[in-house]
Amino acid sequence: MARARLSIDLDAINENWRALDARSGPEVETAAVLKADAYGLGITRVAPALAAAGVRTFFVALAEEGAELREVLGLEAEIFVLSGLMPGDAALCREFVLAPCLNSVEQIKEFAAALSGGPCAVQIDSGMNRLGLEPADFIARSPEIAGFAPRLVLSHLACSDLPAHPLNTEQMRVFGAATAALAGTRRSLAATGGILLGGDYHYDLVRPGIGLFGGLPFLEAGPVVSLALPVIQVRDVMPGEVVGYGAHWMAPVPSRVATVAAGYADGLIRAIGNGNVHLYAGKTACPMIGRVSMDLITVDVSALDEVPDHLEILNGHQGIDDLAQAAGTIGYEFLTSLGDRYERAYKGGALQSAT
Ligand SMILES: *Cc1c(COP(=O)(O)O)cnc(C)c1O
Repeated sequence: MARARLSIDLDAINENWRALDARSGPEVETAAVLKADAYGLGITRVAPALAAAGVRTFFVALAEEGAELREVLGLEAEIFVLSGLMPGDAALCREFVLAPCLNSVEQIKEFAAALSGGPCAVQIDSGMNRLGLEPADFIARSPEIAGFAPRLVLSHLACSDLPAHPLNTEQMRVFGAATAALAGTRRSLAATGGILLGGDYHYDLVRPGIGLFGGLPFLEAGPVVSLALPVIQVRDVMPGEVVGYGAHWMAPVPSRVATVAAGYADGLIRAIGNGNVHLYAGKTACPMIGRVSMDLITVDVSALDEVPDHLEILNGHQGIDDLAQAAGTIGYEFLTSLGDRYERAYKGGALQSAT
């Protein structure tokens, strides 16, 4: 069959979580951010594996994602919804016991009216100007907010992947000052990048996402995904013959060309053709040549004595950030764009006996 195979190593995700957890002190809880279907890797498989590894607190972007996660995890997990409480969310939050991260005065009013007594968190904008209450509004309303007994007060760093950026310390200062009024409420500022900035950024809970899935800025992350593309056809081309749309590649010498089954419709965006991308036969790197088509990619396999059934475009040698860099984007976008045409195979993640 011509379906490419995406392998997702749940044990590697758990290893990455443990490695990130080890970056903060034992008093700091390490949660997991599983928005956008666990960064495209499948929340129904990723979440139970992480829960079995000891993760208790999860974040998603939408209430609908939270409802799906609740059905997967059962009632023990704590689930926060980063977009907060949007019109129509109250019923979902109530039914699935989701904690909205209240982001504005309007959301606070809506929570008081519709969900009072339920779990919530409050998000402060400490300088990114994307989501969250203005610090002054947070302070002015802190008696009312304290009355909600929020499970968490959080904020998000704009530049945590740039350790020297002055906005990091500035956001920490603003967050610390705004939340001083709510002593006793747990606080959270750091995602993957913030964990790596060091202990001053950790507060009570850290919220890694991309680092769990093998992406930068967590350099030490182990690879989580591999992607093997079936070889449909191999042909010999003579010098001067061209390959693919636009006749973009011309053989300089007699060459063997393999055509593999995946393309931009599978998230292997056309722009990866602008970089230095290879497909792997074991350890042997074969250059991608020509333009990426909707369902097909062409590869110079002249270096191989024998062309295998599959060539790998993601593995331990070439990761999501390598493809992202070739395409001028980031690993996050690559992961969340991986298409749903792949056959997905999950490895590991078996429930460890808890007793
Ligand atoms: C996406 C997100 C995270 C996780 O960020 P990573 O960089 O993937 O670790 C944490 N907190 C908030 C508010 C987010 O939007």
